[in-house]
Amino acid sequence: MSPIRVLPNALVNKIAAGEVVERPASVVKELVENAIDARATRIAVTIEEGGRQLIRVVDDGEGIAGDELELAVAPHATSKISQDEDLFGIATMGFRGEALASIGSVSRMQIRSRRHDADEGYEILVAGERIERSRAAGCPPGTTVEVRDLFFNVPARRKFLRGVSTEAGHVNEQFARLALPHPRIAFELTHNRRTTHQLPTQSSIKDRVARFYGPELADELIAIDWNERGLRIEGYVAPPARSRATGQWQYVFVNDRYVRDRFVQHALKEAYRGLMEPNRHPVVFLFLSIDPALLDVNVHPTKIEVRWQDSNLIHSQVLAALREKFLRTDLTPAMRGPAPGRSYPGERTADADQLRREAAEFFRSTTPTVESGGSRGTSPAIPPAREARGTPAGSEELWRSLPTPATPGAVEGGDFQPVTEARAAAGSRALQVHNTYLVVETPEGMVVIDQHALHERILYHQLSRRIAGQALEAQRLLLPETFSVTPDQIALLETHAELLQRLGLELTPFGRDSVAVQAVPTVLRDADAADFARDVLDKLSVRGSEPHTEVLIQDLLSMMACKAAVKAGDPLTPEEIEALIGQKDAVEKSTNCPHGRPTALRFTLAELEKQFKRT
Ligand code: ADP
Ligand code: MG
Repeated sequence: MSPIRVLPNALVNKIAAGEVVERPASVVKELVENAIDARATRIAVTIEEGGRQLIRVVDDGEGIAGDELELAVAPHATSKISQDEDLFGIATMGFRGEALASIGSVSRMQIRSRRHDADEGYEILVAGERIERSRAAGCPPGTTVEVRDLFFNVPARRKFLRGVSTEAGHVNEQFARLALPHPRIAFELTHNRRTTHQLPTQSSIKDRVARFYGPELADELIAIDWNERGLRIEGYVAPPARSRATGQWQYVFVNDRYVRDRFVQHALKEAYRGLMEPNRHPVVFLFLSIDPALLDVNVHPTKIEVRWQDSNLIHSQVLAALREKFLRTDLTPAMRGPAPGRSYPGERTADADQLRREAAEFFRSTTPTVESGGSRGTSPAIPPAREARGTPAGSEELWRSLPTPATPGAVEGGDFQPVTEARAAAGSRALQVHNTYLVVETPEGMVVIDQHALHERILYHQLSRRIAGQALEAQRLLLPETFSVTPDQIALLETHAELLQRLGLELTPFGRDSVAVQAVPTVLRDADAADFARDVLDKLSVRGSEPHTEVLIQDLLSMMACKAAVKAGDPLTPEEIEALIGQKDAVEKSTNCPHGRPTALRFTLAELEKQFKRT
């Protein structure tokens, strides 16, 4: 082994650069952050060949004094903090004094800068280990940093750079993360001499969102403004129907710094739970402001992670801010057509298409053909007759009872007199089509309801309430039904005895490899008892170790609700339609079934008029 020695500065910088400078986008981030810290009002970013050849950032900020230029590119040299305590109150984007030194060590970097009160500017050149002395140069007030041939002296890194369009894409994304939280600063991005973004000064966050992600999304955003317990949460969240397949569209900023934070992410997931399918991700632009002393940003060299002093506070407040807003917002997705003249009739926006696909998929999954209920394998074409199934909901009592807060006029066991706004205005004009959808007139247009999805949501809501207080009511079977199971599943009867009892499901071992269903929850008395019991045991086999019993119960209840709810293809009486619609506004999250699929689609008069070219 060689003796221990202190590494030369140039090598230290290169090592640091490995952490801070991953690709052209990281250089853009560091340089623009410096411009923001210098209180620039205009920042122009230019890249060539995805930034592999050139990255230039021009700002009109405070500038660097000529005699400080050499210091600015030295490692651990910063004007932003000076003592230990400062680390616990970071109010600037930078503070590590690493970026310029790192970038200079792995590229050919030129800085030209002039302070506003100085008569002339200065420039300095850094190329790997070589630093030229700064010298006077003519330039306007502000700072220009030019970075050429990134990684020219680190072949291993250079090899890892991707193609021009990929690197340009990363720069673009980074640019958005910097420009979104600073709407008062004018930004410009130019790639290979083409200006891709020109964002005016004194703009708004919403305008920035519109410019990056399109006006349609911006129009639908739901504003959040929350200020409690020292945490301010502002910004916008998109309605659930706008969700995406990845979490990439979750823009969360803490004190104007883009971060990835698992506490915030978890709170978002919670807030949207039940409003969209579990594998989807909401689109949000959230800006958290908090006393910097309650936060440690010195966790990661790129500062993309933070450490909270009180992560529970963050989680609970983000969740509360969204929940509270969602309760007061109509989240029913609106059907949108193309703007007339712009596209041909019949064309739909991607999202409307997606909604229709989801609805179609949903329809398929609930028709008797593929229904996992008792009709599996039997003749699917004819929906089971009402009389044969007993009551419409599978339970007279659940269907009729439970007057809800929004239906004070409801008479026990008698007529529903729903008094929701929509119903009041619409009289009793609701129409069932294809024995599957309910079309309801509303003051703004009409709503098309998926009868199964809505009924499922209502039953789920009612079952959840009941089970919170006591066990669900059970009904004994005259003839126990048996079905075969695996030995492991027999053991589940004992380990989950309490849970099964709460669900109103009584199962007893029957020989070595069968189970007998003695009683089922009343709500399911008309469903296939063995089939439900089998599904419950299957769920318990897979999810039985779920540490949160409540989560497991919710899961089982949504299964129960699905089996008990009216199906697509079931004819409904006018009274049943009334009852179903009357309860819509009384349950939480009524816009989506417990699995997250939409229960209703909204068509506005304005949209219909546009489509029929009446306007
Ligand atoms: P840090 O931002 O962590 O302080 P940097 O290496 O990025 O470290 O920058 C070093 C110093 O150079 C900064 O503290 C600042 O004083 C100065 N500086 C860098 N870029 C600019 C700029 N665009 N305008 C004014 N001053 C700058
Ligand atoms: Mg910096």
